[in-house]
Amino acid sequence: MSALSAVPLGARDAVLKFYFGPMDCGKSTLALQMNYNHGRQGRRGLVLTKHDRSGGPQVTSRIGLGLEAIEVVDALDLTELVLSHDRIDYVICDEACFYTVEQIEQLADLVDVHGVDVYAFGLASDFRSVMFPAAQRLFELADEVSRLQVEVLCWCGRPGQLNARVVGEVMARTGEQVVIGDTDASAVRYQVLCRRHHRAGDLGAAELAHATL
Ligand SMILES: [Zn+2]
Repeated sequence: MSALSAVPLGARDAVLKFYFGPMDCGKSTLALQMNYNHGRQGRRGLVLTKHDRSGGPQVTSRIGLGLEAIEVVDALDLTELVLSHDRIDYVICDEACFYTVEQIEQLADLVDVHGVDVYAFGLASDFRSVMFPAAQRLFELADEVSRLQVEVLCWCGRPGQLNARVVGEVMARTGEQVVIGDTDASAVRYQVLCRRHHRAGDLGAAELAHATL
């Protein structure tokens, strides 16, 4: 025991961290890198995801890395899932914005009750710039929240902050909170914009963008 606190020396509290940013800011790449680093230290982890861009139960990143992962469905109890494995030191949660609020509570239990480190990655807000319920809960509960600001830029060159949903080349303001886009079968695509152009609904000059191809 330290003289100053009742916490036994050497006992490190597990942590709940949330890394957020717009799409394509490198969240999944960082999630995979973090899993690799922890694994190299002999720690055992699980990787979870939901609605990955690959459409399958894996975490894939734009730059081509990939890893098998457990697909999180709404009914999955994340505490039970982790405890059903032998010894888990950490959990990587990709696309955590799409989890249920209850599942975020389960992640906090894993940290506080079971000493498992949780690293969550995801979008903060939806296409309307309204926060996802799971992301909001992560903001409220996490020990540490970090905004990832990697190379993604708005068409104007400002830092990309918000995701716009584009349907038929028009920016949508209403609709379901989660619609999978950017697949061949979908008429929906997403575009990262700066705050000013998200608020203005300005997708930039499409002719200009095509002219540079
Ligand atoms: Zn802009």
